[in-house]
Amino acid sequence: MLKKLFKRLRGSSSKHSSLTARLIPEAEHGINPRDISSASVRVIEQLQKTGYQAFLVGGGVRDLMLGMHPKDFDVATNATPEQVKQVIRSARIIGRRFRLVHVQFGRETVEVATFRAHHNSDDDRDQHAAQTDASGMITRDNLWGSIEQDAERRDFSVNALYYDPTTRVVHDFCGGAEDLSAHRLRLIGIPEHRYREDPVRILRAIRFSAKLGFTMDAATAAPIRSLAPMLAQISPHRLSDEVHKLLGCGHARNVLQLLQEYHLLELLFPHVHFTDSAWSLVMATAQNTDQRIAEGKSINPAFFLASLLWRSVVDRQHQLQDHGVALIPSWQQAGQLVLQQQMHRTALTKYVVQTIREIWDLQPRLQRPDARQVNTLMVHPRFRAGFDFLVLREACHENTGGMGVWWDRYQAADAGLQAEMLREVAAPKTTGKARRRPRKRKPSPHNKPTIAHD
Ligand code: ATP
Ligand code: MG
Repeated sequence: MLKKLFKRLRGSSSKHSSLTARLIPEAEHGINPRDISSASVRVIEQLQKTGYQAFLVGGGVRDLMLGMHPKDFDVATNATPEQVKQVIRSARIIGRRFRLVHVQFGRETVEVATFRAHHNSDDDRDQHAAQTDASGMITRDNLWGSIEQDAERRDFSVNALYYDPTTRVVHDFCGGAEDLSAHRLRLIGIPEHRYREDPVRILRAIRFSAKLGFTMDAATAAPIRSLAPMLAQISPHRLSDEVHKLLGCGHARNVLQLLQEYHLLELLFPHVHFTDSAWSLVMATAQNTDQRIAEGKSINPAFFLASLLWRSVVDRQHQLQDHGVALIPSWQQAGQLVLQQQMHRTALTKYVVQTIREIWDLQPRLQRPDARQVNTLMVHPRFRAGFDFLVLREACHENTGGMGVWWDRYQAADAGLQAEMLREVAAPKTTGKARRRPRKRKPSPHNKPTIAHD
């Protein structure tokens, strides 16, 4: 009897949210409608004209209220994906675990999500649309709900702000505006429960803290270390997506520091032993990447991964060489092994694998170039990335024989100096003639490691 009553109460609380919105007028939230992508406003207007509710939500509203440039604009509506498709013919329904609609406007994609509710496991309809596994992890999340329920099941309060471009009012259901002003990242609901439902929220907590410079609310931070092992249950594809977002959010240095602080690095890169020197290489890469992003330049995630996994390759290569494998094959085998191991945790596309291997394979070749191969190496499709990586290693005091500086000088040298430099590398070590170390100097600005890497 009591059990039944409890179930009913639990069911009703998950179906009917008791949340009410605080309405924030334009004068207070300060969002300038001109900063919103016209594509997402068009989607919202079309849905509203047909009688549906539709709002801008998520990172777009959060970043605009912070005076930042949003990466993308997400739309939330009470129209189901099929209904969105009826209103906007070009819309495409995607995803299974989390069904969404994509609307393409030129190069811009507007993501349209239907309001969702927490599911009640007693209801057959719910079980079909939403599923959790034995550990409480959500494996399907397609149960439609009201805007209040939708707000409750979003991750952080600052991500649950809904902006209506027609009325220019922000609807705040979870105290997100107050958290924005306090620079506080707070998970909605009971943090342990929310991380168990979706452990990826752990990595999202790190990313948003790092990117926004927010402090995690104590209750939001508390369960992270103990629940971190749940990340091992996440598919390598989803983890890979999240790792790319973490490294490419423009604040990779902060991200790495937080990942280390919360013992998450060993979960994402289980085979890497981050020694002091490995760490300084990774942080130098992060700095370069953040700088490139700040300058609006593109980044290649393969380069970052090449740097993160480098320590593992070096360790493996030493082991293989100790077992009698020759130099070049030992590098190649070590690279292959390390990438295979990593793919169990984060998926790597063929392109990323190939790029990382080329960067690694170039290292011993750039460090001990055969004079006859120097010009061939320079036209290697990955020369730029391999060279940048060598320079970065050298800047982090790895023993590269000063060849980063050598290659830097060689590229800027005229034909006469190049010929002289080639004689230097050609001089056989066995003659007793010491190989002249290139004069130490700063890399010229045009040859600074920039991580263009194409
Ligand atoms: P950005 O786009 O800047 O990375 P975002 O907050 O928009 O940040 P998205 O991944 O685009 O993040 O997701 C859009 C919104 O969907 C989020 O703001 C949040 O409200 C919700 N959301 C995304 N992932 C989750 C999740 N794992 N759990 C709960 N809510 C989520
Ligand atoms: Mg977004």
